[in-house]
Amino acid sequence: MSNCAIVGINWGDEGKGRMVDLICADYDVVVRYQGGGNAGHTVINDYGKFALHLLPSGIFHKDVVSVIGNGVAVDPENLIKEIEYVREKGIKLSPDNLKISSRASLLLPWHKELDCLEEQRLADKKYGSTKQGIAPFYSDKYQKKTVLAGEILNEKAFFEHLLPIMEWKNLTLEKVYGAEPTTYEQLKEWYDNYCIKLMPFIGDLEYFFDNAKNTEKDVLFEAQLGALRDIDFGIHPYTTSSSTIAAYAPIGAGLPSLKLDKIIGVVKAYSTCVGEGPFTSEWFGEEADKLREEGGEFGAKTGRPRRVGSFDVVATRYGVRMQGATEIALTKMDVLSYMDEIPVCTKYKVGDRITEKFPFPSLLPAAEPITEYLPGWKTDITGVRRFEDLPKEAQDYVLYIEKAIGCYIKYISVGPERDSIIIR
Ligand code: GDP
Repeated sequence: MSNCAIVGINWGDEGKGRMVDLICADYDVVVRYQGGGNAGHTVINDYGKFALHLLPSGIFHKDVVSVIGNGVAVDPENLIKEIEYVREKGIKLSPDNLKISSRASLLLPWHKELDCLEEQRLADKKYGSTKQGIAPFYSDKYQKKTVLAGEILNEKAFFEHLLPIMEWKNLTLEKVYGAEPTTYEQLKEWYDNYCIKLMPFIGDLEYFFDNAKNTEKDVLFEAQLGALRDIDFGIHPYTTSSSTIAAYAPIGAGLPSLKLDKIIGVVKAYSTCVGEGPFTSEWFGEEADKLREEGGEFGAKTGRPRRVGSFDVVATRYGVRMQGATEIALTKMDVLSYMDEIPVCTKYKVGDRITEKFPFPSLLPAAEPITEYLPGWKTDITGVRRFEDLPKEAQDYVLYIEKAIGCYIKYISVGPERDSIIIR
């Protein structure tokens, strides 16, 4: 059984969905192992253009089994809507090719509401949440105040467990935020409309994976967001609430004893970031607008403009290290083709100190970028499929980044379509 994790090296949106879609035909099983509906993977293939939030990007390959692991925040409403959305576009989903871990915790109706209420309360100090309920969900998961997907299968026991949690949560809704409490009727409607429809897909994946091991199935792990958003190693507190690090993949998938064979770190040829928090190499004004337009940098989930900036060697080298990446996929090289010269942030200045190390989170707001400029290539490269056929300046850009971040760049993506790729 061979395995591989595809993970984000930076702030997310690096193009992981596109890389999973490209690579997963070589695998038998694709697993989402953390996060929830708070980020979107965009995949463009023969079926059309898709923004996936909870479903693994493996669903487009008919011989691949897609798995939603125990580490994922399973939102029954969003998941059912997403299943219906891809089915409408002709994708076949059945319990044979989509499996949900019975041990995955459910994102409950009040999690989204609490996310919104807390961001409102924080006002101009808000974290920039996507308001999908992820932070309240993970806090409750670790307080053991949610229910497992497997509990859906027994309605009576499900409500016996959930109603006391609802009463406890209503204390927060009413007494902390002055909001309306949730009622049994609302929960029952939610259960009938969404939870019941998940039943056929829910199973004990420990046995599925044992079988996969015994029958030499190859497994691909698909991450959400990037290293800099990791709950432990990211830019606290502007992180997500789950572990985005490859090392968590076997645990969040349901294969806790597995050692990863290969870790593909996905890196964008420039930087983007959604939400609040320090972003050292950020651009503003017309320059930023142009790059945002060229790269189509608008959130897959929220549609909000992404913040953009130069490639950041300091942050990326740190991300590569935290992920333990064994090879890199460099995406969106084609977007840089309009530039005369390409700025790259190579070091940070923090106070009177110049550093190549990624600073401790509380020092990050004081960091300023030190920028070098590399020659641009000013040619359309979207049709190039071999490294040797790239303009010399584009080859040099790749080799420069490879050396600076200390990891082999195996894939260079020159367009969003499945085959717009150079494999070295
Ligand atoms: P993910 O969350 O890491 O999967 O990334 P997103 O899907 O949010 O963002 C990546 C975006 O870039 C999507 O719209 C992709 O279709 C697009 N994309 C990926 N690779 C390339 C590329 O090499 N060139 C261009 N122009 N677009 C790309």
